[in-house]
Amino acid sequence: MIRELNISLTPEEAADHASLERAAVRKLKISRDTVTAVRIRRKSIDARRREVRINLSIAVYSGETPPPLYVPAVLPDVSGARRSAVVVGFGPAGIFAAITLIEQGIRPIVLERGRDVHQRLRDTGRLSREGILDPESNYAFGEGGAGAFSDGKLYTRSVKRGDTGRILRYLVQFGADESILYESHPHIGSDKLPYIIERMRNAIIAAGGEVCFSSRVVRLIARGDEVAGAVTSDGREYMGPVILATGHSAKDVYGFLHSGGYALEAKSTAAGVRLEHPQALIDSMQYHAEGKRSPFLPPASYSFVTQASGRGVYSFCMCPGGVIVPAASEEGHQVVNGMSPSSRGGRWANSGMIVELRKEELEYSDPFAMLREIEAIERACYSPGFTAPAERLTDFLSGREPSSLPASSYPRPLAARRMDEVLPSVIASSLREGLSAFGRMTGGRFISSEALLIAPETRTSSPVRILRDEGMKQGRGLYPAGEGAGYAGGIVSAAVDGTEAALRLGGDYAY
Ligand SMILES: Cc1cc2nc3c(=O)[nH]c(=O)nc-3n(C[C@H](O)[C@H](O)[C@H](O)COP(=O)(O)OP(=O)(O)OC[C@H]3O[C@@H](n4cnc5c(N)ncnc54)[C@H](O)[C@@H]3O)c2cc1C
Repeated sequence: MIRELNISLTPEEAADHASLERAAVRKLKISRDTVTAVRIRRKSIDARRREVRINLSIAVYSGETPPPLYVPAVLPDVSGARRSAVVVGFGPAGIFAAITLIEQGIRPIVLERGRDVHQRLRDTGRLSREGILDPESNYAFGEGGAGAFSDGKLYTRSVKRGDTGRILRYLVQFGADESILYESHPHIGSDKLPYIIERMRNAIIAAGGEVCFSSRVVRLIARGDEVAGAVTSDGREYMGPVILATGHSAKDVYGFLHSGGYALEAKSTAAGVRLEHPQALIDSMQYHAEGKRSPFLPPASYSFVTQASGRGVYSFCMCPGGVIVPAASEEGHQVVNGMSPSSRGGRWANSGMIVELRKEELEYSDPFAMLREIEAIERACYSPGFTAPAERLTDFLSGREPSSLPASSYPRPLAARRMDEVLPSVIASSLREGLSAFGRMTGGRFISSEALLIAPETRTSSPVRILRDEGMKQGRGLYPAGEGAGYAGGIVSAAVDGTEAALRLGGDYAY
């Protein structure tokens, strides 16, 4: 027999399985001896009141053993498959597209411009230490895509668009902690993701798929009105229908699609800064307590949204205990992003603070109009060696000349600059209004001279959309997928989109 119930416990009780069992038995008024297992179905933190509580949805099993949390998927052998398809890009969309092709008996040939995830670790390390960027191997390009060194937060709103649970189960199968299956805001961590990605790649190869690194696709092969394959920069041709999952930093891909006559359009996006606070300040703000955080609570996070003169301003991709990284994929452009390890144990908390940019407000109507706006911000913020413009939050809000800067997790140098000088006025003024509102929402606690704005956060979502029809394709044989296609954003939503594209391809080529 299975009984389901919701309980609310202190963080200390929730951290101890025996306390959890006792609380469940007490609430159900049953004998402990009849219970065979207690399983958490959902777990969330309720920090709205002074006393922080952990809300749990649990299942209590009596007289029966619970089924396994997930059943590992077994990929079929496609080494001799009659059908094959080309997957361009090996980020979350490309990885899950390849797996889904295999599940349907189709052999994937994956073409990835960057290097394997372990070489990428070295390349991003060099970028952080020395400011030397490899344009093919960085925080955007290489095995695992932008997802590889990401924070690995797996929260998504795209549940209606596909089976997000399947994505999480695969991640657990390849090494993520089982808690991502029930945490309300699951998180993997930038230290664990590379190993999970490596295991996924090995599983794809073991099933008969092919994964080619340093293979940058430079054009598509068209046969009449059908896309029949892709060509890499060394002139090699790979034949088959194409899932194009190249992410939103691959501007060269938009370029060759546009000149090849494929349909693109400009897309609304958002841009702003990364905001960094001491983690202890965010803990005391969110958990209503001065001093050290309870050891039974995770580093606190926040999520803010407001309207500034009719324009959305919101926090984005918050990284408790994380670091800010130089995330550009080309010289002459400055981009920052954030990530945190699985422990989230760092001194700082950072998040994107971004302002909505609407395509209706663009001066030009061509597909690259929003991309040009974004590029102009990145250029205005650039200094050699990826020195980042930065300003204290209090200086920014009061309009003072920037003073000295506090310590930061950003590994490259910082230069004190007024955000008003490096960001377009619409972004700077909306940010000022939005951040002031976030200050009021927190009784002023969010506004600290220890908080630092670092610019710019520009790669929030794609500024270009590759058009596709209801069947997720453009013409026959081309399936634009993931964040770069402009229909997804974030690890899970890109993975779901890659999955769906592969399912459509499987249906269209079911001969
Ligand atoms: C530092 C950082 C932290 C992030 N944190 C989170 C987070 O915590 N949670 C979250 O949900 N999202 C996070 N994101 C965003 C998330 O990583 C992306 O939304 C997601 O990776 C998009 O997946 P994708 O597969 O569509 O594209 P991408 O991950 O961008 O992958 C595209 C791939 O295509 C390859 N490619 C590009 N052009 C070519 C070409 N011409 N030929 C061959 N290959 C090519 C690239 O090298 C890359 O590997 C973060 C991003 C960054 C940079």
